[in-house]
Amino acid sequence: MLHAPSENRDQNLPNAIQAESESHPSKEDTTYYNTGVQYFQYHLSSNKTIMANKGKKKARSKKRATQQHQSSNDFDECKYYANLGCHIANVARCRVEAMKKHPWLLGIEPFEPNDYVPEDIAHIPEVAMNDGEEDEYGDCEMSLTLTNIKDTTSILFVTVYDVDLCGADGKILTSGWTYTTTAKNTTTQRKCTTFIVLCPPQTFVHLVTLVPNQTIGSDTERIPITSWSQIEIESDVQQWSFHPNVKDEHPHLLHFPFHGNEEEAVNEDQATKSYQCSQSENGNLTHFFHGNYHAIDFACPIGTPLYSAINGIVVEVKDDGGGGQNKNNTTSTNEECDEIKEVSGIAARNLFHWNSIMIQSTDVETSDPLFLEYVHIQTNSCAVKVGDSVERGQFLCRSGSVGFSPEPHLHMAAYRSNGVDAATVRVKFQRINNDDTRESGLDSADAQSFLPRVGQWYNHNGLVEANSEGK
Ligand SMILES: [Zn+2]
Repeated sequence: MLHAPSENRDQNLPNAIQAESESHPSKEDTTYYNTGVQYFQYHLSSNKTIMANKGKKKARSKKRATQQHQSSNDFDECKYYANLGCHIANVARCRVEAMKKHPWLLGIEPFEPNDYVPEDIAHIPEVAMNDGEEDEYGDCEMSLTLTNIKDTTSILFVTVYDVDLCGADGKILTSGWTYTTTAKNTTTQRKCTTFIVLCPPQTFVHLVTLVPNQTIGSDTERIPITSWSQIEIESDVQQWSFHPNVKDEHPHLLHFPFHGNEEEAVNEDQATKSYQCSQSENGNLTHFFHGNYHAIDFACPIGTPLYSAINGIVVEVKDDGGGGQNKNNTTSTNEECDEIKEVSGIAARNLFHWNSIMIQSTDVETSDPLFLEYVHIQTNSCAVKVGDSVERGQFLCRSGSVGFSPEPHLHMAAYRSNGVDAATVRVKFQRINNDDTRESGLDSADAQSFLPRVGQWYNHNGLVEANSEGK
């Protein structure tokens, strides 16, 4: 018996996607899908399918360029993360728009339960592979499809290892890397491509095809790829969670986390250094669900000193690399096995192995608590421990790239509680020097504080003009 679509379908989606990811994932919801053993032939017969029209490709990309230019901020988040191997597709907001915005997408198709015998519906995998059946256009391609047959919006993280993938625009998608460091301190890197897709209820998203004539295997023995079953694919599928109050803002102001108490005296350069905001609130990569919505990412080299943004007490420290993982994700008790110490990069499996430190503010009323979390920090870099009191500007730890992290960065998120399922709250940064705001047209509140926006550079005084980056 199939359920009618719930009201979730009409839910007013924010501009960017929302989902479960970086910092507060719930393990119970996790589905690791080894699609190597699944096979599903999708239907292309429906005339409702929105397919990429190869003939109209040029006209479309021209129009897209014009639209992007109108944006107030030229920073293209999707392009930025695509260059790092993470390909974002928000299909939930508007399907036609999604096809325009992501020219590599092969197509979006409504799931039609009546096309299936009920017993087969239960066997539709969340990541489905077409091994090259000829379609209505006469094309014979090996394609990858995400399926959401549920009545709720899903967020899918899918990682494809070792191979090259091709979009509807005929371009090979940029791949990225995932890194594994073992307890013996050897780091290995592996090529992979990751898709982050917000998929509306009862929808199939046809992602990409496999670039033809590829081989797989060791250097000495290469085998031609003829089936998706030869390729390692992993995915994490979760129900998208809407933030209950996206306008929630805590009145307390934060100290800029790259600026230490001692620095102005010790090192003028360090004090005025600026950092690019690589994802702001409601960001397209991972800041689109209740536990991440208001988080701010700053790109920064591994080892950058991080300072406390509040006066408070350390309530949680996790800087062991999320270790204890077996290399093959099995529960083998073989003592010879070299355990994984930490992971980094864009593999979906990295979503659950981050480092972090959490501070509870002691400057706020107990009725209005504030918890601040620093994520992806460098392993074994914490200078403080649980229970320690810390001051604004006190050295805490160093930045890193541990967990699901396309590039080294600091992920900062604030909460009104330290519960694992807490929703984020917006908190602004306090300008050190109110006279030197550098931003024109600021009202009195904005002269006191600033909220970083994606693509822009900041220091402890707020926005830094693009041409005067004090990097
Ligand atoms: Zn983040």
